[in-house]
Amino acid sequence: MFPNHAQPLVTAPAETSVLALLLTEGPLSRVELARRTGLSSTAVTKAARPLIDDGYLHELPPERTAPGAGRPVNPLAVTVDREFFVGVKISAEALFGTVCDLRAGMRATADLRLGEDRGPEAVCALVGELVERLLDADPTFRGRTRHLGIAVSGDVDRAAGRVRYSVLPGWRDVPLAGAVARSTGLSVTVENDVKALTAAEHWFGEGIGTEYFALVTIGAGIGSGLVVNGQLIAGAYGVAGEMGHISIDPAGPVCHCGQTGCVEAIASSDAILAAVRTATGDADLDFDGAVQLARGGDPAARDAFARAGRAIGTGIATLVNLLGPERVVVTGEGLDTYDLFGVHIREAYAAHCFKAAAKSPLTLRPLPWEEWARGAAVLGIQALFP
Ligand SMILES: [Zn+2]
Repeated sequence: MFPNHAQPLVTAPAETSVLALLLTEGPLSRVELARRTGLSSTAVTKAARPLIDDGYLHELPPERTAPGAGRPVNPLAVTVDREFFVGVKISAEALFGTVCDLRAGMRATADLRLGEDRGPEAVCALVGELVERLLDADPTFRGRTRHLGIAVSGDVDRAAGRVRYSVLPGWRDVPLAGAVARSTGLSVTVENDVKALTAAEHWFGEGIGTEYFALVTIGAGIGSGLVVNGQLIAGAYGVAGEMGHISIDPAGPVCHCGQTGCVEAIASSDAILAAVRTATGDADLDFDGAVQLARGGDPAARDAFARAGRAIGTGIATLVNLLGPERVVVTGEGLDTYDLFGVHIREAYAAHCFKAAAKSPLTLRPLPWEEWARGAAVLGIQALFP
């Protein structure tokens, strides 16, 4: 997070657990908080006090738990508009931005097309412009916003605030967080976009309350984010979760990463298109054309989607066999063609899962672009924690 002096809101373990539970699960009584955190009721009350004083928590009106159940309880709740968080997702064509409240509710959204120049300096300037526009969307935003999260695809060093590699032209080892922190005055966290989305789903979506959780994106790229012991993991080299580059077919196509037979080399939308072009001999075909052919029953096109589905299902099964997540969320623009390969994903998944691993359900979650920006804003919310 940049600047480095930005302080977390909570540091003591008791405050951290109380705030995290209330953020992710909504209002809870002190008794319930004590039960869930393993703290004593006195410790819960002590932990909540400074957060109430700072306006982050408030007491709801008393409610009786049951007739004759004794003294009514006042559940504690997060005051969601105490602080706001800006999130920006940088995609190949545009920037998508949002302002979220403390429980990741989207309060405003905006987007900006990238210009001809997509180098780091030009994109940084546009990020600053989008942030300004978002903060102007409501008079309460500017005074209550300290954190900005930026999500970008590629190899991101979150701790150093640098984008080591992205498909955008000229993006090699870009000190993005520092540059945007200087131009916006906000503290900035930069993260890989799939990891940011995974963090958002873990705290505020399908993954709430899970210790082991995985999110898989399909479409132009195949990616995944992993949560282990309740923590999003990056791995020692920042590449944990590169499901797209599990090699599943030694005789398969060569991947842009240099390996052979990666899931992404078979199942990305470009890979599917390349397979359909080769099979039909039509070098001018675009992806929509390939989809139309497959939906019209063309055997070669249907086969390319089937092969992609089997590759994705095998990749997810490998992930599940290694990690044993409670559930797996499948998302990304590739869901638009789920009718063409969904059955193959599920068949290959069931066939390759080891025993009880197959209990882990696949949940399909179509997420519009704004949700990726929300993922970026959740990086800011998580920056309140040590
Ligand atoms: Zn690869």
